[in-house]
Amino acid sequence: MQFNQTLESIKTYEAGKPIELVVREFGIAPEAIVKLASNENPYGCSLHVSQAVSHILSKMARYPDDSMYKLKAALAKRYDVGAHQVIIGSGSDQVIEFAVHAKASASRPVLMNSITFAMYEIYAKHVGAPVVRTTSRHHDLEAFYALYEQHHPSIIFICTPNNPTGDAIDAAELIAFLEKIDGDTLVIVDGAYMEYGRTKDAAKALEVSSLVARFANVLYLGTFSKAYGLGGMRVGYGIASAPIIEALYKLRPPFNITTLSLEAATVALEDDAFIEHSVLKNFEQMARYEAFAKARGFSYIDSYTNFITLCFDAPLNGTAIAQKLLSRGMIVRDLAGYGLNAIRVTIGLPEENDRFFELFDLVLKD
Ligand SMILES: *Cc1c(COP(=O)(O)O)cnc(C)c1O
Repeated sequence: MQFNQTLESIKTYEAGKPIELVVREFGIAPEAIVKLASNENPYGCSLHVSQAVSHILSKMARYPDDSMYKLKAALAKRYDVGAHQVIIGSGSDQVIEFAVHAKASASRPVLMNSITFAMYEIYAKHVGAPVVRTTSRHHDLEAFYALYEQHHPSIIFICTPNNPTGDAIDAAELIAFLEKIDGDTLVIVDGAYMEYGRTKDAAKALEVSSLVARFANVLYLGTFSKAYGLGGMRVGYGIASAPIIEALYKLRPPFNITTLSLEAATVALEDDAFIEHSVLKNFEQMARYEAFAKARGFSYIDSYTNFITLCFDAPLNGTAIAQKLLSRGMIVRDLAGYGLNAIRVTIGLPEENDRFFELFDLVLKD
């Protein structure tokens, strides 16, 4: 069968390998597997979530509240914007999809960092939009601006902190950049790891309400999948000026968020103490990875997220290391597909990190 030609250039997104797959492929018991590959919160989620969700289990015969009133109101309050400036997606992935479908087309390229979240390109390809990338590893906003002037992109993706490198942009620098961009270019600012980044360095924190008030062409994205520990619930959101949200709404399928997910996200948003605790523990444990890398003479990228990217020089090879770790039940992310001799490791629980260090040393001796 012939499918749309746009599909030919799309590589299927490879999510972090699920534990179940490693059980089947390597015959390792599930308890012996450690997954540090998808930047999930190892501390789970707020304890209030499971209580709240269990209370509404009897409501599953009904469609969810499609107005998403409670969650939108909670997000609007949190970010100090109007509820009409919020859209909820099945993961922020879905909001990216809406935005790309709403704005991008084959006639203008989409601009993004050399190394960044792989889904941006996949969604661009849905609509046949060419992709233009900068060349440096970190977001270089001067290079972005030069490419913007040259290509007049429909969308600019800014991922801060960036996945899979973990670096982040200073808010002041981003604002100076946005001032130079015309109103017909949609700038998508993906803050999937912002709960981590803003805690590590206040200079990276974005004032979302003033950002979207000042720049009517900016769409800010957040997710419940990372710090909030609700990856399995699939809830993310976009915040922007009303015209952007109205455009995105036209692409939204009805009931795109389940009743359970809406409840979980609403309750999770109230528990600041859980986020604070998770972020604190994250950076405590990250320091161990930094010390580990230094002691063994390889580098890492200073990270504002809940993962760290360890970079190798030949003869050390990230792909081989990831593979050998996997055969011992340790799932990490090989970044060869991004052109890096590196692996990305989600910061786990202390005992998971112990296990990583132990297995890594074993693998180095191989
Ligand atoms: C994880 C992630 C997302 C979205 O995750 P969802 O689970 O779809 O909300 C978006 N952007 C980046 C950079 C991410 O790492």
